[in-house]
Amino acid sequence: MSDLREKYEAVIGLEVHAQLLTKSKMFCACANQYGAEINTNICPVCTGQPGALPTVNQRAVELGIRAAIALDCQIRSESIFARKNYFYPDLPKGYQISQYEKPYCEHGKITVRLKSGEEKTFGITRIHFEEDAGKNVHASHGTVVNLNRAGVPLIEIVSEPDMRNSHEAGQYLRALHSILRYGDICDGNMEQGNFRCDANISVRKRGETKFGTKVELKNINSFRFVEKAIDYEIDRQIDMVEKNEPIRQQTRTWNSAKNITELMREKESAHDYRYFPEPDLSPLVISSAWLEDIKKVMPEMPVQVRERFQKEYGLSDYDAGVLTASKDLALYYQEAVKVSNNSKASANWVANELLGRLNAAGKEIDQSPVKSDQLGDLIIRIDKSEISGKIAKTVFEEMFATGRNPGDIIKEKGLVQISDTGAIEAAIDKVIAANPTQVADYKAGKVKLLAFFVGQVMKETKGQANPGMVNELVKKKLD
Ligand code: ADP
Ligand code: ZN
Ligand code: MG
Repeated sequence: MSDLREKYEAVIGLEVHAQLLTKSKMFCACANQYGAEINTNICPVCTGQPGALPTVNQRAVELGIRAAIALDCQIRSESIFARKNYFYPDLPKGYQISQYEKPYCEHGKITVRLKSGEEKTFGITRIHFEEDAGKNVHASHGTVVNLNRAGVPLIEIVSEPDMRNSHEAGQYLRALHSILRYGDICDGNMEQGNFRCDANISVRKRGETKFGTKVELKNINSFRFVEKAIDYEIDRQIDMVEKNEPIRQQTRTWNSAKNITELMREKESAHDYRYFPEPDLSPLVISSAWLEDIKKVMPEMPVQVRERFQKEYGLSDYDAGVLTASKDLALYYQEAVKVSNNSKASANWVANELLGRLNAAGKEIDQSPVKSDQLGDLIIRIDKSEISGKIAKTVFEEMFATGRNPGDIIKEKGLVQISDTGAIEAAIDKVIAANPTQVADYKAGKVKLLAFFVGQVMKETKGQANPGMVNELVKKKLD
């Protein structure tokens, strides 16, 4: 990161396309199904045959409304579908049905937690419905247009240009992803492109009120890449401004092998999509009665789960916040508690040890080598005094590295805690014999040396002695 970051401020706005978790497409009955045989989920509507008429998928609208509710948006009782016209081989109709002037909702917000512990709220400009395009599949003999994805329902969530650095943008995306997952609105699978992000970035001198010219980074498919790409782009733009080179409005892409952004196309003047109201669809009406029905069956949202975790498991607000950051993490924690029957210890292990290691390894919770029941099993063994907390950390390290069960590791490495009085006493005798000066000092009243003796005994037993028993027996021997 350049030192010039002090002199400049970045402005970031994000556009997210999220695929809705429906069985069928947005305007026809074809299956919304990933990975099907090429061009098997198609019909006259989604392939743009003359005379074929679209009908709106009610379920898709319901899921979109869930997102609007979860993101505190104002919902329009009557919104308009519009045609977004452009030519591309994966778009046989020559237009996408979208929403333009009157999207179904606007003026939302989302609150995220930053690594500083501070919370920040970002504005959501609008959400609108859209249908996906097809996909060009390039093969050796030529290009095949696969229309299975054409007409699949999407919502596009457009943020205000409220983010000021890559971390804020990353946290915005994670929070949005989390809400959509909690709400069963979108499965959030980024590899399949079901949650994709375009990041708009500009820079300006601090104190400047006008925005600089923005560059758009297209379709980046991981949170980390978005953060990296934004950081790269901020520095690139600052360098250009410093060299008095004009920033041109461009669309760029992230090259994750080279760690740089690359030019896709210049965007001298905005695309003219010649939007106009879709003549084949009547306005989308969302009645207050329908809205109420949807609210009644809304799945638990992160804020609610966070409150429940405090009540049910006695967690602090902070810990509950950490453990509900994603639905997968909350589920992991709940499963670990189910096994361990110890909500506090489970919270500590998940929030500190596990998340720390996952972070360092660049992994998400669903890629954790340690499964929730294995972690629960480890906690049971600590609670039963089979192993000490310290040894447990060694066992956990091994579990994380190999995915093996704690019982096997403890057995194989002979890590079972020593709770046998005779064995502990033998170690104490050895320590006493080796440290006559300290023994004399202790007997002369320097009781603080107790900790020294306990430490030596733990060392002697390679950390495997039961610390409570060591404490007790050392005292007994010395007094
Ligand atoms: P466009 O018409 O080019 O699509 P929009 O005004 O619709 O631009 O904004 C698209 C996204 O870019 C929004 O998320 C918005 O917050 C963001 N954005 C707009 N202007 C800027 C800017 N100067 N710098 C960074 N982001 C911006
Ligand atoms: Zn179809
Ligand atoms: Mg736009």
